[in-house]
Amino acid sequence: MTSSTYAIAIGSNRRGRHGGPVAEVRAAIATLAGVHAVAPIMASAPLGPSLRRYANTVVLLDSDLSPLELLAQLKAIERGFGRRRGRRWGSRVIDLDIVLWSGGSWYGRGLCVPHVAFRDRDFVLRPLCRIAPAWRDPVGGRTIRQLHQLVDRARPRD
Ligand code: AMP
Repeated sequence: MTSSTYAIAIGSNRRGRHGGPVAEVRAAIATLAGVHAVAPIMASAPLGPSLRRYANTVVLLDSDLSPLELLAQLKAIERGFGRRRGRRWGSRVIDLDIVLWSGGSWYGRGLCVPHVAFRDRDFVLRPLCRIAPAWRDPVGGRTIRQLHQLVDRARPRD
């Protein structure tokens, strides 16, 4: 497989052996090969009764791996960070998602690229917009900047 570019969303909402969520996100970035752009990390203040903090960012990396091969590698990294399996919405030391692939779309065998939820997520689109604003969603053809504007306009203001 020739080299392609991937946008990988990285999130954490639990302390791990590297420290708090921001430290975990930084440590995850350091384990990824081929990273050539890193968006600023979005860190949230603790919110609500759980007092849980969140850290999110997106990186661009070049890789010779196919989407399925990369997914297997990302899952191995998640396991190494101590993520508990089978807890879909639970707290997690690290969550790694393939958001976009320069090869276009990929559907099947437990993997869907573009990521099914990325168009609704400010915490993905905001950092992605800093490093790849002109990247076009292969589904629908909107740029990341346009998708981010749509989500940003719909965001409740206080
Ligand atoms: P989650 O816990 O929400 O991150 O979901 C993890 C599961 O979603 C993984 O085991 C993958 O098989 C599946 N999945 C489907 N599409 C993607 C994607 N684009 N990136 C990462 N995981 C994906």
